[in-house]
Amino acid sequence: MSDKRKLTTAFGIPVGDDQNSMTAGSRGPVLMQDAHLLEKLSHFDRERIPERVVHAKGAGAGGYFEVTSDVTKFTKAKFLSEVGKRTEVFVRFSTVGGEKGSADAARDPRGFAVKFYTEDGNYDMVGNNTPVFFIRDPLKFPDFIHTQKRHPATNCPEPNMFWDFLSLTPESIHQVTILFSDRGTPATYRHMNGYSSHTFKWYNEKGKYFWVQYHFKTDQGIKNLTREEAARISGEDPNHATRDLYDAIERSEYPRWTLKMQIMTPEQAKDYRFDIFDITKVWPHSDFPLIEVGRMVLNRNPKNYFAEVEQAAFSPGNMVPGIAASPDKMLQARIFSYHDTHIHRLGPNYHLLPVNSPKAAAENSYQRDGFMRVDENGGAGPNYWPNSVGGPAPDPDSLEPPFEVSGQAARQAYTHPNDDFVQAGNLYRDVMTDEDREHLVGNIVSHLSGAQKRIQLRQVALFYKADTDYGQRVSRGLGLDVKEVENLAAMSQEDRAKATAQGA
Ligand code: NDP
Repeated sequence: MSDKRKLTTAFGIPVGDDQNSMTAGSRGPVLMQDAHLLEKLSHFDRERIPERVVHAKGAGAGGYFEVTSDVTKFTKAKFLSEVGKRTEVFVRFSTVGGEKGSADAARDPRGFAVKFYTEDGNYDMVGNNTPVFFIRDPLKFPDFIHTQKRHPATNCPEPNMFWDFLSLTPESIHQVTILFSDRGTPATYRHMNGYSSHTFKWYNEKGKYFWVQYHFKTDQGIKNLTREEAARISGEDPNHATRDLYDAIERSEYPRWTLKMQIMTPEQAKDYRFDIFDITKVWPHSDFPLIEVGRMVLNRNPKNYFAEVEQAAFSPGNMVPGIAASPDKMLQARIFSYHDTHIHRLGPNYHLLPVNSPKAAAENSYQRDGFMRVDENGGAGPNYWPNSVGGPAPDPDSLEPPFEVSGQAARQAYTHPNDDFVQAGNLYRDVMTDEDREHLVGNIVSHLSGAQKRIQLRQVALFYKADTDYGQRVSRGLGLDVKEVENLAAMSQEDRAKATAQGA
C-alpha cells in the first residue's frame, strides 16, 4: 500500500529526515551508514542514460491514427482494415545532429517517428520531414554523421568537414537543396510534413504486393523560419519547438496530419526511369499521385518526459503483417542499427518499458532474462520452441509472401542509370518561388563561406550541375570565379576531387 504523503527510500522504507546527513557530531564527518544519503547520491550519479548518437534532442506526444479510406486492396495490415478504425500512437519529433541540449531551430532534418500500437504488435514508421536522404548506402552513414558533429580537435562544428564530405558525395545534392531551403528550419514540429523517405512494401490478403511511400501532410500548413529568425530563436529559446508542441496540446489545439500514400505496382517499378529504392529520389506526384489513407491527431502530452519521450525507442524493423521492407540499402541497415542502438542505450529489455511495449497485442516470445527484466519473465512457462507443452506457436498467416531475388554477391552501387542532379534541379527551377531561391542561396552562402575555397568550388560545381542559375548565384554570393566553377562542373567527379584536393 503506498501512502503518497510519506517520503520513502526507493525500497519503500520511511525517511525521517531529508535535510540533514547523518554525521559524527554536529561538525563531524558523514557516516557510511547513512544508507538513504548513499542511495540518493548513487541514483543521482546514474540519472543520465547514453544520449542517442543521432536524434538526441526531441519532443513527443500521444494520440491516435484514424483510417479515412479503404486501402484493403493494397494491404492486410489490421490497423488499416476499416474506415473509421482508430489506433493509439506515440510520436517523437527531433533534430538530428545536435546534442540533447541543442537548439530546436537548428538547420537540420527533423525526425518524424510514429509508433502505432496495433493489435498485431507495434508498428514503427521512423521517418523524417524530408522525402529524401543525403546518402543511399549505409556504409557511408557513420562518416556522414561525423561530419555533422564536432571536429575531433576543436570540438566545434566545422564547415570544412561538413562541406568536404558532401561535395565528395554528389548523391547528397537533392537533400542539401532541401536542407538549405527554409524547410531546413521548420517554424515548429507542428508545421512540417513527415515522410517515410524509404520505399516500403504493402501486401494484401491475396499476397499481391505494392511498393509504397508515406507522406504525413501537416494540417497546420507548412511554416518555416528564415535564417535570421532561426538564429534569433536559437538564442532566445532553444526549446521553442518542444514548448510549442506541449503548449498547443495543453490548449487543446491538437496538431493533425493527413496520411497520404504513393503506391506503385511491381510492374511499374521494373521499368521506371530510376531505381525506386534509391532514397535520394522522390517519386514524382504526376506519375504516382497521393492517395489519402487516414489522419493522425496528437492530443496527449506525456506525463513524464524521461519515461515516455527519452525512453521511447522506434525501430524501422518493427513492421506488422501487411507491411514489409524494400531492398533500399539504407532501410536494410536501419533495421539492424535502431534496435542495436536501443539495446545499448536502454538495455536488452527495452521492449518492457511502458512506452515501448505493445498496448493492443500481447508479447509472447521465448526471450528471457537480461538486465532489468521487470515483468514475470515468462514465469514457469517454456523458454524454448518447439515444445509440446502448449507454448506460443508461430502463425504462418503472418508470414510475408516469398519474393524473388537474384544476382551476384559483391559490393555494388545502385545499377540504374542515376542522375543525382535532376530532382535537385527540378526543385530549384519548378517548385521553389523566387523568394525560396533567394533564401536558399543566402542560406548556403552564409554556411559555405566558412569552408576553404577549394571545398567551396567543388560544392558549387554540384549546385551548377543541378541548375546553372543555382550554381552561378551561389558562386557570386561567395565571390568565386563562375568560369572556374563551370570548368569544375564539366569534369568527372574523380577529376573534380583531384583538382580540388588539398595542395592541388
Ligand atoms: P510537385 O509539384 O507535384 O510536388 C512538389 C512538392 O514539393 C510538394 O509536395 C511540396 O510540398 C514540396 N515542396 C515545396 N517547396 C519545397 C521545398 N522548399 N523543399 C522541399 N519540398 C518542397 O512535383 P514533383 O512530385 O514532380 O517533385 C518535384 C520536386 O519537388 C522533387 O524533385 C522534390 O525535390 C520535391 N518534392 C517532391 C515530393 C514527392 O514526393 N514527389 C515530396 C516533397 C518534395 P507541399 O505539398 O508540402 O507544399
